Amino acid sequence: MTAVTELRGVGPKLAERLARLGIHRVEDLLFHLPLRYQDRTRVVPLGSLQPGMEALIEGEIDHVEVVHRRRRALLAHVSDGTGRILLRFFHFSRAQHDGLARKGRIRCFGEARRGPATLEMVHPEYSLLDHQKALTRVEESLHPIYPTTEGISQKVWYGLTGQALDYLDKLPDLLPEALARAHGLPSLHEALRLVHRPPPEIAPAELLEGRHPAQRRLAFEELLAHHLSLARLRQRKQAVAAPPLPGEPALAQAFLEALPFRLTAAQRRVVEEIRADLARPRPMLRLVQGDVGSGKTVVAALAVLQAVAAGLLFEDTATTEILAEQHFLKFDEWFTPLGLRVAWLSGSQKAAQRREQIALLADGRAQVAVGTHALFQDEVRFADLALVVIDEQHRFGVHQRMALRDKGADGARQPHQLIMTATPIPRTLAMTAYADLDLSVIDELPPGRSPVRTVALPDSRRAEVVERIARACAEGRQAYWVCTLVEDSEVLQCEAAEATWASLSEALPGVRVGLVHGRMKAAEKEATMQAFKAGDIDLLVATTVIEVGVDVPNASLMVIENAERLGLSQLHQLRGRVGRGQVESACVLMYHPPLSDTARQRLDALRRTTDGFEIARIDLALRGPGEVLGTRQTGSLQFRIADLERDADLVPEVQQAARRLVAEAPAQAEALIQRWLGQAEDYGQVG
Ligand code: ADP
Ligand code: MG
Repeated sequence: MTAVTELRGVGPKLAERLARLGIHRVEDLLFHLPLRYQDRTRVVPLGSLQPGMEALIEGEIDHVEVVHRRRRALLAHVSDGTGRILLRFFHFSRAQHDGLARKGRIRCFGEARRGPATLEMVHPEYSLLDHQKALTRVEESLHPIYPTTEGISQKVWYGLTGQALDYLDKLPDLLPEALARAHGLPSLHEALRLVHRPPPEIAPAELLEGRHPAQRRLAFEELLAHHLSLARLRQRKQAVAAPPLPGEPALAQAFLEALPFRLTAAQRRVVEEIRADLARPRPMLRLVQGDVGSGKTVVAALAVLQAVAAGLLFEDTATTEILAEQHFLKFDEWFTPLGLRVAWLSGSQKAAQRREQIALLADGRAQVAVGTHALFQDEVRFADLALVVIDEQHRFGVHQRMALRDKGADGARQPHQLIMTATPIPRTLAMTAYADLDLSVIDELPPGRSPVRTVALPDSRRAEVVERIARACAEGRQAYWVCTLVEDSEVLQCEAAEATWASLSEALPGVRVGLVHGRMKAAEKEATMQAFKAGDIDLLVATTVIEVGVDVPNASLMVIENAERLGLSQLHQLRGRVGRGQVESACVLMYHPPLSDTARQRLDALRRTTDGFEIARIDLALRGPGEVLGTRQTGSLQFRIADLERDADLVPEVQQAARRLVAEAPAQAEALIQRWLGQAEDYGQVG
């Protein structure tokens, strides 16, 4: 299709700016969709204006003044009989001042904000209305606002998209008509015309909410393109061979008999799903979702046993050293009695020890390797790698699984992959984001867990919290104290934790206080964790490093400092460290007032529920899918028009349509992926 440079007003400079947004052709402009709309079609009475609302207002100027508080500002007081508002200008000309000072009627467009006395608009767009012409017409349709970059104004976007619409006829509609009809969707041309230039007869509310059929049509197409792209990725991955691992029932039996508990029904179901996958000669690509404490480790262990029973190796990687170490100790304890040897690799290991562990793996004396990302280094070679398990906790990101390399002995075969995450991703999101993975959900916690009671307290009540720790420890219980810092500096984090450790040690004379943070030596950390596990430490002061799966059932009190600074899922993870034993547990979220609206909503959500799926749903609503999945950087889940929460009901239809399209019109499927994902799709091809 035509290059954007063919359009009026697009010189080299603008072309370069557009290129930065991936816009090269007129078609790209047509798919540069409005982010939102401004409603200038009706005047909102001041009495019904709410903070945060962007609105067209109209009223009489009652009074104009120039104030010199911190900054010089021109203030215009406006009222309309239903309410009042203050217009605030920091930059203004003499002529502006004089125009406003003549009073009379004014019409403004801007965002209402809460001011000290009344609602305010800062630098609204405005026009002074003549009394005679008081009935000046409002705009007839909604005004599109486009996502933009420096140097391209909304006016330019409006002009460009207006010109682009003239080329609409050249744009092919890639959804077969029958398919669009089956799903009750308008044509592509109708849809694009409407979202770029909504006609006046459209009800603004429908468009503002993104529920108009035209928007649904585009959202459908976009979701479909994502789905097709991931499905293709999956197909490619599965085109290679993997070692079939039938397993050995006796080994699994021996393992299960040695456990002090029985698997939950959910664990058994997931184990069965994995078992069937591993027995096939195609690589397993399975994501296991299970809330913190749902017992994912045992499930992974059973998968490992099935792999090693076939005489093959397994590797387990976890995001952090403490977590990896804990897995190592656990697996070592479980597997040694079964006659297996477990190797351990981490970044902070001494060179000699490391060489020794690598040697164990290279010649197959160790069948299982546990470690951090250190396992991915080139010098680590496996005799024959059959299964890779990745415990991503909540940091799971699409890009990480792409980076997996083939460490099998011959390049033609790929190991099976099992990915475990504690992020309970809502099903619709998972179906779209992970269409290339099979999904298993452990939706049940082991029996006997007591729910964690959660309270939020301002940090002015710190003394009470310290008192509470003293009581809990006197009763033989254990507690965590988590320090957080807003800065992204690990050094500062650790210093803060050290300071807290010192002050708590002093405030709690009878209590044995331990400290772990990211800058301590691995051996030191391990010793402290072991002491805490053994009950030789009562209170563990830590940075957020402990979020990742530490398991100490006797710990029943969790204090999180500056909880307002952490994300919802991170708080949920941290809280998951308690409530693992029989005693009633509590979590204290200490915050520093004042709380922002979203921080308040996060803390409220945590107090209200301990259900990981509910929390994930709220998190998704507060942050959007890109952030929830941690893929913001890769851009692979940035939708232009679809909204996974709003359009969740489209997902099953999209899946169905994807199957049909691949079968009936594969070339169109390919073109759809190109249209919506273009270069972004290349991410999927790494690894
Ligand atoms: P996560 O899913 O967060 O990784 P873990 O695997 O660490 O959870 O398990 C949490 C705790 O629950 C561990 O102490 C584990 O031994 C225990 N556990 C796992 N499965 C069961 C079960 N079926 N019954 C009782 N306890 C279990
Ligand atoms: Mg775990």
